[in-house]
Amino acid sequence: MEGSIEEVLRKYWGFDTFLPLQKQAMECVGSGRDSVVVLPTGGGKSLCFQAPALLLPHLTLVVSPLISLMKDQIDSLLDNGIAAGRLDSSLSHPERNGVFDRLRERRLKLLYVSPERLLMQGFLDFVRNNGISSVAIDEAHCVSMWGHDFRPEYRQLRVLRDALPGVPIGAYTATATEMVRRDIVEQLRLNSPEILVGRFDRPNLLYRVRRRTNALKQICEVLDRHKGESGIIYCIRRTDVDEMTEALTEHGYRVAPYHAGMPDEERKRSQDLFIEEEVDLIVATVAFGMGIDKSNVRYVIHAAMPKSLEHYQQESGRAGRDGLEAECLLFYSGSDYLIWKRILEESESQSLDIGKAKLGQMYRYCSSVACRHRTLLAYFGQQLGKESCQACDICMGEVQGVADALVVAQKILSSVIRQGERFGAEYTAAVLTGSREERILANRHDALSTYGLLKDVSRSIVRDWIEQLTEQGCLERAGEFNVLKVAEKGRRVLKGLEEPLLLEPPKKKPAPKPPAVKDSWEGVDEDLFERLRLLRRKLAQQRSVPAYIIFNDVTLRDLARRRPDSPEALLRVSGIGAKKLEQYGEAILSEIRKS
Ligand code: ADP
Repeated sequence: MEGSIEEVLRKYWGFDTFLPLQKQAMECVGSGRDSVVVLPTGGGKSLCFQAPALLLPHLTLVVSPLISLMKDQIDSLLDNGIAAGRLDSSLSHPERNGVFDRLRERRLKLLYVSPERLLMQGFLDFVRNNGISSVAIDEAHCVSMWGHDFRPEYRQLRVLRDALPGVPIGAYTATATEMVRRDIVEQLRLNSPEILVGRFDRPNLLYRVRRRTNALKQICEVLDRHKGESGIIYCIRRTDVDEMTEALTEHGYRVAPYHAGMPDEERKRSQDLFIEEEVDLIVATVAFGMGIDKSNVRYVIHAAMPKSLEHYQQESGRAGRDGLEAECLLFYSGSDYLIWKRILEESESQSLDIGKAKLGQMYRYCSSVACRHRTLLAYFGQQLGKESCQACDICMGEVQGVADALVVAQKILSSVIRQGERFGAEYTAAVLTGSREERILANRHDALSTYGLLKDVSRSIVRDWIEQLTEQGCLERAGEFNVLKVAEKGRRVLKGLEEPLLLEPPKKKPAPKPPAVKDSWEGVDEDLFERLRLLRRKLAQQRSVPAYIIFNDVTLRDLARRRPDSPEALLRVSGIGAKKLEQYGEAILSEIRKS
């Protein structure tokens, strides 16, 4: 057995400090208490059960829902010199026998299993007879129907509590709602568990929301800001993924598609290309993500609005797991709302009302001018605790509401009425901006009291405001020519009973990094960082593991900042423990010495 948990952290992972709540979570495992640990993505959940495993006399059993998740964690453990194995349906007979041999010989510290395997006849007796010290249930929200990934087989994990008396069970998840948390305790029949809930804010994520006007152009602008970095683009439908992939490839970007309609092997190939950094970018539906532990995703773009804030938090949360700055950009339009509404209505789901309510909340998030961090946190029942997040488009002053939105909206709506509700958006914008077009003069609409009322604004902006009013339900489109009509809500706006929100077009060019986290590049020799990145890729290819298993970006930047020149100095870099030093020390030192 090793010494203290601090020593374990230092020796095997090369970390000097705990992330918030990690130590408390580890103490539960060490003291034999059940626990529920809710930490955001990137909060360091896996270490909460992996580090104590090295101090416990017997095996730590980890239940995990996905083979890819297990593989990733095991690659990472092995690379740190920790005896870990897995049992799942992808293993061959000899491989499986090998794992059982090692269990009998008590040579494994951690064993990852799928719930199906755990529930197989005789398996729990087997592990009990061969010594077990603790159980970890990863992605524990899968036991709950209230979560977003319910898995019926997780429900049967309730047998664990009786089958392994006295063995602490830890349940780990990033899903924050109170209901899911209570469900986990109940379903797993945990025994007065310690409940540890972390802060859900991810200050390293910079949130931006933009109305979608020209998706491809808007997305290319973002990609050009993130040259050479890894990112994900989420689309709603499979066809959107295919089209976007084709368009981006034509524009010279290195892209792979991912959706449930692709054959298994092609999908797997796309995922591998992304994880191994052969392509920078994956274009995907929501089918992509669970089980991807890639820590250096530097941006997540939503080409369209997701269907709920839970989904948005999950998907955007895949950026910046390593704690370094990352950008989450969402492009939306009113049509996304309609597409989701139709999908919801066509699905068999019994909870159509809940689905629609969530969709409404998502849309309000997009179209509001409230701090994004604050809104997301509030949704999960937490408060921001500071005036400004300094890491969203609103707090950075990139997007603002129109100061006199009510008056502007009334001008637009009353023009629609005065035009007899017989014309489309383009025409209405032309009237309001005082155009001398022939069709307007022919209709004598230059004589309307609303003619030229918004002449100080460009026609495209007025056109966009009309779009915004339509999305908010003040205007409706009717007939084959999409003529505008004022809806009930619009009439209330005209009477001043309701105030719509109109956005100004974004003024500033987006800053590449939020001011709050700019200094993560401070002192980093960027040229050396690039060379180390290539070295990392080479080492990863040699070992057939993803690049981020070798080192995460924090370690790479720390190396390029401190330029260590000896094995002792290397050990002082975050993320380099004894085993990493032994495996990669020489290669890194010689790369650093080259400059
Ligand atoms: P989660 O499963 O909660 O999303 P992970 O366990 O994948 O989080 O950890 C996220 C990142 O944080 C990983 O790159 C991991 O190496 C790093 N990490 C975890 N614990 C620490 C720590 N105590 N100090 C520094 N980095 C840590």
